Amino acid sequence: MTKWVYTFGDGAAEGSAADRNFLGGKGANLAEMASLGLPVPPGLTIVTDACTFYYQNGRSLPDDLKAQVLDGIKAMEAVTGRGFGDTSLPLLLSVRSGARTSMPGMMDTVLNLGLNDQTVEALGHNAGDARFAWDSYRRFIQMYADVVMGIDHEVFAEILEDEKARFGHELDTDLSAVEWQHVTGLYKEVIEESLGEPFPQDPHVQLWGAIGAVFASWMNPRAVTYRHLHAIPAEWGTAVTVQAMVFGNLGSTSATGVAFTRNPSTGEKALYGEFLVNAQGEDVVAGIRTPQSITEAARIDSGSDKPSLEKVMPEAFAEFGRICDRLEAHYRDMQDLEFTIERGKLWMLQARSGKRTTKAAMKIAVDMVAEGVITQEEAVLRIDPSSLDQLLHPTIDPKVERHIIGSGLPASPGAATGAIVFTAEEAVIAAEEGRKVILVRVETSPEDIHGMHAAEGILTTRGGMTSHAAVVARGMGIPCVAGAGTMRVDLRNELLVGMGVTLGKGAVITIDGSSGQVLKGEVPMLQPELSGDFAQLMQWADKARRMTVRTNADTPVDARAARSFGAEGIGLCRTEHMFFEGDRIQVMREMILAEDEAGRRVALDKLLPMQRSDFTELFAIMHGLPVTIRLLDPPLHEFLPKTEEEIAEVASAMGMEAQLLSQRVDALHEFNPMLGHRGCRLAISYPEIAEMQARAIFEAAVAAARETGAAVVPEIMVPLVGLKAELDYVKALIDKVAKAVMTEAGLDISYLVGTMIELPRAALRAHVIAEAAEFFSFGTNDLTQTTFGISRDDASAFIPTYQRKGIIEQDPFISLDFDGVGELIRIAAERGRKTRPDMKLGICGEHGGDPASIHFCESANLDYVSCSPFRVPIARLSAAQAAIGSAAKVDH
Ligand code: ADP
Ligand code: MG
Ligand code: MG
Repeated sequence: MTKWVYTFGDGAAEGSAADRNFLGGKGANLAEMASLGLPVPPGLTIVTDACTFYYQNGRSLPDDLKAQVLDGIKAMEAVTGRGFGDTSLPLLLSVRSGARTSMPGMMDTVLNLGLNDQTVEALGHNAGDARFAWDSYRRFIQMYADVVMGIDHEVFAEILEDEKARFGHELDTDLSAVEWQHVTGLYKEVIEESLGEPFPQDPHVQLWGAIGAVFASWMNPRAVTYRHLHAIPAEWGTAVTVQAMVFGNLGSTSATGVAFTRNPSTGEKALYGEFLVNAQGEDVVAGIRTPQSITEAARIDSGSDKPSLEKVMPEAFAEFGRICDRLEAHYRDMQDLEFTIERGKLWMLQARSGKRTTKAAMKIAVDMVAEGVITQEEAVLRIDPSSLDQLLHPTIDPKVERHIIGSGLPASPGAATGAIVFTAEEAVIAAEEGRKVILVRVETSPEDIHGMHAAEGILTTRGGMTSHAAVVARGMGIPCVAGAGTMRVDLRNELLVGMGVTLGKGAVITIDGSSGQVLKGEVPMLQPELSGDFAQLMQWADKARRMTVRTNADTPVDARAARSFGAEGIGLCRTEHMFFEGDRIQVMREMILAEDEAGRRVALDKLLPMQRSDFTELFAIMHGLPVTIRLLDPPLHEFLPKTEEEIAEVASAMGMEAQLLSQRVDALHEFNPMLGHRGCRLAISYPEIAEMQARAIFEAAVAAARETGAAVVPEIMVPLVGLKAELDYVKALIDKVAKAVMTEAGLDISYLVGTMIELPRAALRAHVIAEAAEFFSFGTNDLTQTTFGISRDDASAFIPTYQRKGIIEQDPFISLDFDGVGELIRIAAERGRKTRPDMKLGICGEHGGDPASIHFCESANLDYVSCSPFRVPIARLSAAQAAIGSAAKVDH
């Protein structure tokens, strides 16, 4: 018999936190908390396999599930002393969804299930509070109708607004029992009118309706989108938890709330959360009433005059504090908790690892090491390398005067500037067109996720720190100001009204997600400082990693930035970029258009001092760290004008006939430049170019060595080698120049000559090429192009289609194709090292900054990765995680 149902409650449970794969995160942690003896209402969890079954069997449930669920409910009845459907002491249930990883707000919970026209009377009678019973019933009808019967919740919200106005009430909590009973009647009428059948009165019908709805919601578009964005496989399915209700809406001694054991924005070790008195479930996050702070300290901080939980329910608060400490110690991580207080008694309803900003993640990891809770290596493993991007966000320069037009909650840190858009669709379109926008909404909902992803920043006028906008923005690492109550969105006229200003669509604003301020226009920003916890974690990462991290830098600016991010050398300096600058392109064109070698040498003599000074500066900045310089790589026509107009302009500047220039441009034209006259093929056709570059490199090395006193070891990289003979030819030329320069200078310079592996042939013949090459650097951008036979510049026409159709999962230009390109890298590394065991191996393609690809490089035993300056911290951390991971594999 298949075990579909696992029960928990009363100090025991059938599963544990380790069973999240089949109990879902929520069910697994409820079981764990129950086993720990914490106050958890009893319940049962239907395993995720039942969801799989449901979809494999035409949306039907397994036959033996029913009896198992009913047995589970019997156990709940025994613990609570109530009966499901009982008309004197009714047991009410919540039906909750829970996947392996949390999918916030993606699936709907039904509360107060089991209420009908009879049990509502009994519930009121039991509690001695009819208002509470009718409040629960109207909530149930509204949720059930929305989630299970598919009636828009707006319908009910409208009825309630009308009736509240009629009764002269402002808050939901002002309504009396009779008034709620009246509203409930109206709700039922609407349902019967629109569906032609009455609201189900049989609790068992209600139960199976709700369970089916949870499984069905696994495939709703919101859930599908979320899974897609977070790479969660559809096969995982969701579990369903059915749990006895506890009531936060039982008057002024009852409450419901959510809390983090540490501050999720800053990481500060202080309980942080919100609650509402006399409320249930979603009220806290729905933004209908403004929630109150849990602690007195937080209340004072926020300047709120509404009392804290600490003040109004000191005993429940104290117990909650103890439970927080216990759970943190137990899970060894910051927890995100949901709780309800029923007439002074605390109940725990959910625990999970709390989502946090990168800044908070770092502080928490570093603090927990200091507290002796986790090790340094665990701390390193706790930070998602890609999330470091968040820290690299600019902040507003504190010295500039701020033109503040509104303020809200600092919901997700970092500052962002962009033009106002009011809908998610517009944000998506703008992002596609490369425009930067701020998405401005009253509040966001899961339907807005695409737009939130596309925006630079998010501004809402309603909602708290745990509102949808705040939670999602923090997860995405996008700056967000939430609940800017001093501002107003006028959707109909597409206006944002702030303090003293009214701005239309397209107006530029800046939001500061760290302070909550909204500013007019574009504001000067500062680059982030990477000290404190960041520096500490990086130091631990550096201790743990094996590979070194270099940078791809062509300019002094890049090289300096990379150094400040901790780069340990340059893995790729593309010399051609130096030729595009200022008037150099002019000289370059002279060289290319020269009739013969003599003419070319005249132009090259002019380029030599320019290159030399560039290299000298780079060597000086890197101060003795390795610098890999690649000889000229792109085909020469890339330096020539293209359109007729440009040709005319260049011709006249050069004192040359336009027609002649046009002919020369035509002659250099290639059908397939990616596979054309480029790389080492240029050095072989025009050795004088490579000679000039080698001379510039060696003269610069001499100059830098004299200037800084640090030994400079240039690594000269010959691109696009496929044949050993190609490398032999170019290397001979480089060696000759080296000798000449050293004799002239009277100084010995050590240097290496190596090649970029970017052709499958080179990878396969690595053992032969290694006879000449002293290092290999895997140029994975081109190696991916040449392995797949796909041009990177044209790939966007079909790669997305491939991904949509499931032909490939990842764009191979973003995340390395381990199976194909990776295999070539392994072959080349292995064969190269067979010939030359101490050969240095690195990667310099875009993949050098991609965490998954860095893990591959660790496993292929490369010596270093090289990436763009801003990705250096990401690469340092990824390399450390890869090293720790592979060390763990060896240990076990
Ligand atoms: P989500 O996955 O969106 O967090 P939950 O299943 O946690 O949904 O339910 C949302 C809220 O409903 C909870 O935070 C809690 O306030 C309320 N809730 C859920 N189960 C119960 C219960 N057994 N008793 C009282 N309230 C509950
Ligand atoms: Mg929850
Ligand atoms: Mg290349």
